[in-house]
Amino acid sequence: MARRKKVYEGKAKILYEGPEPGTYVQYFKDDATAFNAEKRDVIEGKGVLNNRLSEFFMTGLGAIGVPTHFLKRLNMREQLVRQVEIIPLEVIVRNLAAGTLATRLGLEEGSTLPRPIVEFCLKDDKLGDPLVSEEHIFAFGWASQQDLDDMVALALRVNDFMSGLMYGVGIKLVDFKIEIGRVWDGDYQRLIVADEISPDSCRLWDIETGQKLDKDVFRRDLGDLADAYTEVARRLGVLPANATPMTRPTLIN
Ligand code: 5GP
Repeated sequence: MARRKKVYEGKAKILYEGPEPGTYVQYFKDDATAFNAEKRDVIEGKGVLNNRLSEFFMTGLGAIGVPTHFLKRLNMREQLVRQVEIIPLEVIVRNLAAGTLATRLGLEEGSTLPRPIVEFCLKDDKLGDPLVSEEHIFAFGWASQQDLDDMVALALRVNDFMSGLMYGVGIKLVDFKIEIGRVWDGDYQRLIVADEISPDSCRLWDIETGQKLDKDVFRRDLGDLADAYTEVARRLGVLPANATPMTRPTLIN
């Protein structure tokens, strides 16, 4: 039996060669890691939830004209995506102070920012994805000025879309990370949203109670991560309103 070729394995996902040239199959694992993989666990059902949630967000972005790598969901854990040349930068957008920004600048967690702030980190696990400036990005050739302008524009459109979507279901989008890739149409390159958008890569707080519904539940030992992600999926209508952790696996198809 022919075995498919693994192209890349990350902490939460695996990329396989796709059925057609220019495609990959993106597989969502149940593995959860934090603090640069110093803390790790397997959370049953997380991959299934992230596959569905990322499909939901990317499909919505596509519908409002934000290009993404998502093509279609294949099964509970896999989706077909476009092959891209990943830009080696994590793009972070922040609406409220939290996480490393709050620590770095001594800001109270949850305090409002004067405007959404876009940050770039170098994608390098060995270095712990360090924050980098535009000067670093241009000097080391990770992206051009045009790329950077396009990346900021894309990231802010994702922020507006995701903030509105979350607000509608009583959730504050505190911050999130996206990855962006290049695709070529003939001689012209375009940048599109790649990787995943899920509660693994966002901070999501309940508007009423402040309850955390994202990977901080795992990072800070605040409860059951799959319950938190199920709650997000349930509110967004990605899972039926009566979905519970017990019924979760059978309700997702
Ligand atoms: P912070 O810099 O405060 O740790 O993270 C800011 C936001 O980006 C958070 O929503 C966090 O989940 C996300 N983020 C930053 N780095 C990574 C990463 O390497 N992987 C994932 N999945 N999300 C990240």
